[in-house]
Amino acid sequence: MPELPEVETVRATLEKQIIGYTIKKVKVYCERIVLNEKEDVINAKLVGETIRKINRYGKYLIFILDKHSFLSHLRMEGKYFLKKEDEERNKHEHVIFSFTNGLELRYHDVRKFGLIKILDTTDMKEILKEEELNKLGPEAHSLSLNATYLFNKLHKLKESLKTALLDQTIICGLGNIYVDEVDFLSNLKPTTSCQMITYDDCENIIKNSRLVLNKAIEAGGTTIRSYTSSLGVTGRFQLNLNVHTKAGSPCPLCGTIIEKIKVGGRGTYYCPSCQKDHPLIVGLTGSIGSGKTTISNYLKEKGYLIIDTDEISRSLTKDNKEILNKIKEEFGPSFFINGELNRKELGDLVFNNENERNKLNNILHPVIKDKVKEIIRNSSDKIIFVDVPLLFESGFDKLCNKTICVVVDKTEQIKRLKLRDKLNDLDIQKRIDSQMDLKKKSELATFIIDNSQDLCYTYKQTDKLIKILEGEINHD
Ligand SMILES: [Zn+2]
Repeated sequence: MPELPEVETVRATLEKQIIGYTIKKVKVYCERIVLNEKEDVINAKLVGETIRKINRYGKYLIFILDKHSFLSHLRMEGKYFLKKEDEERNKHEHVIFSFTNGLELRYHDVRKFGLIKILDTTDMKEILKEEELNKLGPEAHSLSLNATYLFNKLHKLKESLKTALLDQTIICGLGNIYVDEVDFLSNLKPTTSCQMITYDDCENIIKNSRLVLNKAIEAGGTTIRSYTSSLGVTGRFQLNLNVHTKAGSPCPLCGTIIEKIKVGGRGTYYCPSCQKDHPLIVGLTGSIGSGKTTISNYLKEKGYLIIDTDEISRSLTKDNKEILNKIKEEFGPSFFINGELNRKELGDLVFNNENERNKLNNILHPVIKDKVKEIIRNSSDKIIFVDVPLLFESGFDKLCNKTICVVVDKTEQIKRLKLRDKLNDLDIQKRIDSQMDLKKKSELATFIIDNSQDLCYTYKQTDKLIKILEGEINHD
């Protein structure tokens, strides 16, 4: 089946060939293909009109004439030929547009699955309201396709990622070949349930859809010159594929043998190493002094993998030369003693000043995020906790399937901070103020653990939560 890049190639090729041609006659040999009009009405509408433009939306070609237009979908086997009018008609040529210059555009379709629909407008806004186009989701390149849109569409669906990405009402223009390629580049197994897809995964899917389609359109574009009308305009070209049709070959990234499976009845190719089962990623956060560490230690004892972003941050600011240089550049050498970063002094500065805090976060967060993703990729655990003090503020929640916020009442919070960090009231208030309001955090979180009372109560809530999370990954 021609995919979007191939249809785009057909469009670009036809545009080079037939723009400015005026229709003399239309002959319909298979009525089923032209959806809405009989031959005499088509002739009454189109004869004398000139092909002005050829647009495309998803896999629909849109031929714009003077007062009319027509949609064309090639489906499985449709293709266009440009032939001289005295050339004998092939039995699979079902609709023939004859031009005043003696040439003919012939729609050829062995299986007769394609469709043509005549429209009484040339206004693209009106054309896009046609039911065939109206139900389609945004194209990969469209600005209305963003991670928020895709995440909202996907995260409630129970079907597999592959099936959802083939659904043209979600994203328009991704077919079987390109969905496999997009899943591969996004490190996502095609069978992954949509419910496991995170916001961050959605960003990757969109980025990679654009990348893959652009490359394919480019590849198609380079073959336009080699088309001859006698071969027919099918838009097919040699593709550089990573996984699709590569079963038995080594993965270009890791060398693991590519496997072929069936997903929703479609042949699906993937690398079992690069595209592992998606773990349930659970973000753990809480305000300063809320006792988040107690929970994270408890989870660790239970054998769960906890990715501690504070620890990553500490190690980055200890010996990562690139990071240290960036900090020195931004904040000056006075924060360094004998080449080592004075974390206490920098900490005081950023807690007291939002601007400075953002500067430091802009240096650290992207690197921490990459590190977290790397640990997740290399782990085969089914549930992974990511401990992030600023989970929502820094956007780390986008990496997560679920989030937990540890809450504590304010008097208890202040008491703990005095005891633990030996801070005075003003400093405590500053540190609390530097974070998102606890109430807002707990509203954003999937789960809340109340750590205001004794440890026993805290552990009991945590155990209950673990049960829910384990149920999440085992229900299928
Ligand atoms: Zn691989």
